[in-house]
Amino acid sequence: MDISTEKLAEDMKKIVGEEYVFTDVFERVVYADTALPYDVGKEDLPDVVVQPADAKEISKILKYANEKKVPVTTYGSGTSLIFGTKPKHGGITLSTERLNYLKIDEDHQWFECGAGVKHGRLIKELGKLGYFFPIQTQAGSSIGGSVSVNTLGHLTDNVFARPVANILGLEVVLPTGEIIETGSKCLRRPAGLDLGRIFIGAEGILGIITKVRMILYPMPETADAVAFFKTTEEIGKAIVLMYKNKLPLPMDGEFVGEKACKVGYEAFQLDFPEGAMAITRSMGRNKEEALKNALTLVEFFKSVGATSSFILEDKEIREKAWAVRENAMHWGEEKGLKGFLAIEVNPVLPKLPEAIAELKNITEGRRDLIGETEAYLYGHVGSDSLHCLFVFPYDWSIKKMKQAVSEIWKLEKELQLKYGGVGGDWGWLPYRVPLFREIYGEVSYEILKKLKKLFDPNNILNRGNIEGEV
Ligand SMILES: Cc1cc2nc3c(=O)[nH]c(=O)nc-3n(C[C@H](O)[C@H](O)[C@H](O)COP(=O)(O)OP(=O)(O)OC[C@H]3O[C@@H](n4cnc5c(N)ncnc54)[C@H](O)[C@@H]3O)c2cc1C
Repeated sequence: MDISTEKLAEDMKKIVGEEYVFTDVFERVVYADTALPYDVGKEDLPDVVVQPADAKEISKILKYANEKKVPVTTYGSGTSLIFGTKPKHGGITLSTERLNYLKIDEDHQWFECGAGVKHGRLIKELGKLGYFFPIQTQAGSSIGGSVSVNTLGHLTDNVFARPVANILGLEVVLPTGEIIETGSKCLRRPAGLDLGRIFIGAEGILGIITKVRMILYPMPETADAVAFFKTTEEIGKAIVLMYKNKLPLPMDGEFVGEKACKVGYEAFQLDFPEGAMAITRSMGRNKEEALKNALTLVEFFKSVGATSSFILEDKEIREKAWAVRENAMHWGEEKGLKGFLAIEVNPVLPKLPEAIAELKNITEGRRDLIGETEAYLYGHVGSDSLHCLFVFPYDWSIKKMKQAVSEIWKLEKELQLKYGGVGGDWGWLPYRVPLFREIYGEVSYEILKKLKKLFDPNNILNRGNIEGEV
């Protein structure tokens, strides 16, 4: 950085206005913090946080950053579990929260919004008009963050498809400051080359997405079902058969392993059978169709060994059953454990039950730090995707936590390679760079680096992420 922090802040104020530039330590910590179990250190902080109002201000910031060689980290809402928003080289953290314009255009059958609009608001505003937002991560996540990761959260890939399939167009500010538009305003997406696709899933290294245009999905009618199995492995086998038997896939579906169910049932006072739980949301164009699809799954679950399975008609029980899954980050708390780290393993479909069996007992007999953690298994029912949450005492030293994190990531990489997985929910950058290189090879990694150089010759945006720095 060819400039002092004071001068940087002064110059930023000239672009975005005094009230949208922050240099105090509290703001800098808030925007640097991530889901890593240890606190951010001084070296993780940005020098300044800015909140620009629109693409024009972002363009000015990026032109300035190029001239002065200042790194810029884009911050949507920081809920990513892959730590892309943690600054690795100081500089500017650029928050998209003021890009909050939203227009729902029923005549054109799309909505258009600023990158900072939160999922919770989209779900509510689209819902009021009878439309469904086809990305389901955290209510607090920004659409810019999710589109940058091309993630759809809990939803089933084979039902709603990834954002890349649902996006009509983008406005993007390139790292060198030019503003471009991509895609179409009609419902027909461009065939052939569509530049927008390069930025969707680029995890913020090729440009800052400032506006998103996405198709409107009519709100489906839904019916939820639950199934209880003696073991989580049986759920894995059921998922494999669900696909092979061409059953109506749930639009959303989760499972919770034996250990986590125990904690969840106690917390929500649910009198559910012991073992593991699968919970599904089926959809249809009308209530009858949704219910028919859900009942088909209920019958199927019973036929493959569920000890019990039924439609979740009671609203209170339904909400509590989902909450058993949604409260994953709190599963260790009853044991006084507060530090946690989650991993993601996406086995190829035939190996799903085997991967479940391995992950379920992952801490047993280990002599490393992973053996000292409590591990809870959960995952998606609509896709072959597993998560494991490792929890440990929050009073471990930072050094010990960092060692545990590195062991857990190494384990994730080994398991992904063993079972044929990818960075399916959270993306690749930065900590899955070694996995990317191993799966796709050095030629592919070189292509990524060349793309980055082409778009961002001074390596301004999200510096350190493609290099795999955490
Ligand atoms: C409890 C919990 C559960 C979660 N469950 C899921 C889940 O089930 N499935 C799932 O897929 N994810 C899940 N996530 C991860 C996370 O919620 C999603 O990845 C989310 O979509 C990220 O949105 P964000 O606004 O927080 O992005 P951020 O974390 O702010 O950013 C993510 C990346 O995109 C970049 N970026 C952000 N905005 C822009 C922009 N406008 N232009 C260019 N680059 C940008 C950032 O620099 C960063 O690299 C979960 C997270 C938590 C905390």
